Amino acid sequence: MTTEQSRRKRASKLVAENKLEALLVTSLHNVRYLTGFTGSSANVLLYRNGNAVLFTDPRYTVQSKQQVNCHIKIAKGPLTRAIAAEISRVQVAKIGFEPEHINVARLEGLKKALPSKARLISAPEGLIAKQRMVKDEGEIALIRAAVDINSRALEAALKRFKTGMTETALAAEIDYQSRKLGADGPAFDTIVAAGVRAALPHAHPGAAKIGPGMLLIDMGAFKDGYASDMTRMVHVGPADSHYKRAYAAVLESQLAGIAAVRPGATAASVDRAVRRTLKKHGLDREFIHSTGHGLGLEIHEGPRVGKSDKSKLEPGMTITIEPGIYIEGWGGIRIEDTVLVTKTGCEILTPTRKDLVEL
Ligand code: ZN
Ligand code: ZN
Repeated sequence: MTTEQSRRKRASKLVAENKLEALLVTSLHNVRYLTGFTGSSANVLLYRNGNAVLFTDPRYTVQSKQQVNCHIKIAKGPLTRAIAAEISRVQVAKIGFEPEHINVARLEGLKKALPSKARLISAPEGLIAKQRMVKDEGEIALIRAAVDINSRALEAALKRFKTGMTETALAAEIDYQSRKLGADGPAFDTIVAAGVRAALPHAHPGAAKIGPGMLLIDMGAFKDGYASDMTRMVHVGPADSHYKRAYAAVLESQLAGIAAVRPGATAASVDRAVRRTLKKHGLDREFIHSTGHGLGLEIHEGPRVGKSDKSKLEPGMTITIEPGIYIEGWGGIRIEDTVLVTKTGCEILTPTRKDLVEL
């Protein structure tokens, strides 16, 4: 059985458990996960016995044959029409849809096109996403590769860094190095924030020149569809004692978070470990987001490593641990690694150093 076949087999059990005869998969990430298809237009009809049909358009006739080992239907017109034809051919009546991955117009269009006996039923939200939270060996290998490219790209870009360079120029250098090292592209818009701008957790790089002071870099690479995510701080010129103390506190909280990662622990307990440490240093109120997130085919996946996420960690989950503090008019500090939950705890995948760096 291929990887995709075994993924479909597991997913089809969820279809059956929810008393559906088939699931219409409209999320392209889920389509890729279940079939290996990487094109930009496709839906999958997954039957409860594990069989599946991929619907795509003529642009992907060759590609789909190369990538996919389930049934393929090349739709000459709208996918909806081809899907409706398939449904009336096999006469399934209870078809689930992914409520978070379909819009009203598409749903209405499907309802109109389907045979009168067929019913579209909202599947539980995140049905396939839950399965995707635990990565298989092949996925873990790709995430490792994405992490590795990301760290090497930062190293290469920092070698070319000069004081006075703009945030945009450094972000472009990072993206260029990452691509040269084999990334599909950035996993999200690279964040480069210098000085007081580091107080913005999701700063967009701008024309600001990077002078002496703190510099926050948050970057990720996609490799064969899988994401990595890392935040590092560098200090241009010597750091003062305030920065050093704050950096040490954030690092301590990040390590406390990592130490709390193990199978059976809740995502919320990891978040608590981070907050407790920051509180000890009087910095908990400056930590204004959650501790981390799962990542895989998407940069943000489950579990959400936050205050209220009760999901239990399992071996094979890949998550980020990224506490940060943000102080208006001063700046911000965030440190982020991608980690893999193992049978006994976790493995930090990100190899980049975390001691205080002064350039
Ligand atoms: Zn992140
Ligand atoms: Zn990040």
